[in-house]
Amino acid sequence: MFEQALSLLKTHFGYSSFRNGQEQAIRSVLSGENTICVMPTGGGKSICYQIPALVLPGTTIVISPLISLMKDQVDTLNQVGIPAAFINSSLSFSEATRKINEAKSGKYKLLYIAPERLESYDFIEDLRQMDIPLVAVDEAHCISQWGHDFRPSYRHIQQMANNLPQKPLVLALTATATPRVREDICHSLQIDQANSIITGFERVNLSFSVIKGQDRLKFLLDYLKKNQREAGIIYAATRKNVDQLYERLRKEQINVARYHAGMGDADRAREQERFLEDKASVMVATSAFGMGIDKSNIRFVVHFQMPKNMESYYQEAGRAGRDGLDSECILLYSSQDVQVQRFLIDQSSDRSRMTQELEKLQLMADYCHTENCLQEFILKYFGETETESCGRCGNCLDSRTRIDVTKEAQMVMSCVIRMGQRFGKNLTAQVLTGSKNKKVTELGFDQLTTYGIMKNQGAKEVGEFIEFLISQELIAIEQGQFPTIFVAPKGKDVLLGKQQVYRREAVQVKQVSKNDPLFESLREVRKSIAEAEQVPPFVIFSDASLKDMCAKQPKTN
Ligand code: ADP
Ligand code: MG
Ligand code: ZN
Repeated sequence: MFEQALSLLKTHFGYSSFRNGQEQAIRSVLSGENTICVMPTGGGKSICYQIPALVLPGTTIVISPLISLMKDQVDTLNQVGIPAAFINSSLSFSEATRKINEAKSGKYKLLYIAPERLESYDFIEDLRQMDIPLVAVDEAHCISQWGHDFRPSYRHIQQMANNLPQKPLVLALTATATPRVREDICHSLQIDQANSIITGFERVNLSFSVIKGQDRLKFLLDYLKKNQREAGIIYAATRKNVDQLYERLRKEQINVARYHAGMGDADRAREQERFLEDKASVMVATSAFGMGIDKSNIRFVVHFQMPKNMESYYQEAGRAGRDGLDSECILLYSSQDVQVQRFLIDQSSDRSRMTQELEKLQLMADYCHTENCLQEFILKYFGETETESCGRCGNCLDSRTRIDVTKEAQMVMSCVIRMGQRFGKNLTAQVLTGSKNKKVTELGFDQLTTYGIMKNQGAKEVGEFIEFLISQELIAIEQGQFPTIFVAPKGKDVLLGKQQVYRREAVQVKQVSKNDPLFESLREVRKSIAEAEQVPPFVIFSDASLKDMCAKQPKTN
């Protein structure tokens, strides 16, 4: 059976060999196993179900959430002589009925359907009258609440498969590799996790970078000037951002297209086409643009603001360089992005997922603040364990030397402890910089020894330094309506002087001398932590109890 697969690859698709993972996926399906195939965007997932569809008798059902792409996919298949059709809400009732009847007569090898169809009892009846060997579930992460695009109707897929007279094989395909999502997919679709085909997520031709502390528009205009005529996507957070950027870039004589959900269908289709056909070199869009698009020569993806989580980011950035040539993925970061995303999460109706969304947002912010390899950060996020620095991302190539910021980290963390580890990042930064804010004084934090010890820094810089400490896992966040920060186990080692902290960006604060209040404060905090080590789990002490305990302690260390 497999030899047939290879010859089909050549005759129908014109490729001489399979890509990494395709052969394994096809073999697994053809040997009769339910299978999950996790490959990065652009990895070639479509072939994994299109070829089995040709080999197996009957009509393969492809579930896809992307109405706008079904037509493209089906047109492409028809062009290479493969009978395929789609059924979704873009068809009139009579067209849909005709397609369904043709499908029942066995005319198509592949039938693409939108998941919402599965909610119709009549449609399930129609499917029961077809010969269905395989159900391919594209963008299968939509089945999981942990994915970035949960679609409740995906939950009906297994029910549908169980209702068919002959139980079909299931092949799930996605580019989202977090173990949690994978488990969810396998569980919902009754796939044995042993039948997972996961190809490496590293995209060796992509170089990632995060740009902070710069005028984003100026950076973008300079960048576009340097990369004229190259194809690229610029993702912006809101429709309004897209419209504004679009107008601005047009003024610069840049050949630009735009795409967001607020535009009419025809407008969007036209703009997408202009970009896909290289008539516009740059696409400015919200995240509504791009899922599943097949344009291989995209040289850069710039995020004008930070997206809401790493899944979305890697999916969007991963649209660069599908042809294997070197391409850039740049994220323009400003700390207000976190607030904007927090606000959006806050506004969304689904309260049950809020904490989880906030945790993901924090990891996204960690990506922006880490000074370690960005590609490695991504791979670890997606569950890869054997990773190493890529040597080509912005952080790997950053030639600035690292500065020892251990003392500054100790100042922050001792302040966090003295505040009782019950408050947020901003208030902590205010206390450290000696703010006269009402809340600071009301809570008596202006009496702490750590009050104002970072006075010569702005609260914003100190806030960013705290973000950096979070990205280094020295400080942790407890998410909620009012997120609070506390010292993580690794942070304790730093407080105890067992571990140093380095950062490329300096945090300039005054030197700590023996008669400085901080010196005393640090000594106390260290002692109290040493004590606390004996009382697992790590107990959080208030400023007062810290002093009490220190007084009782024998003078060791
Ligand atoms: P995915 O769904 O994983 O994002 P696609 O199935 O859309 O990726 O394929 C991405 C691109 O790779 C398409 O242009 C496709 O034609 C091409 N492609 C797929 N398989 C092969 C192969 N074996 N050899 C060369 N190109 C391939
Ligand atoms: Mg795809
Ligand atoms: Zn790197």
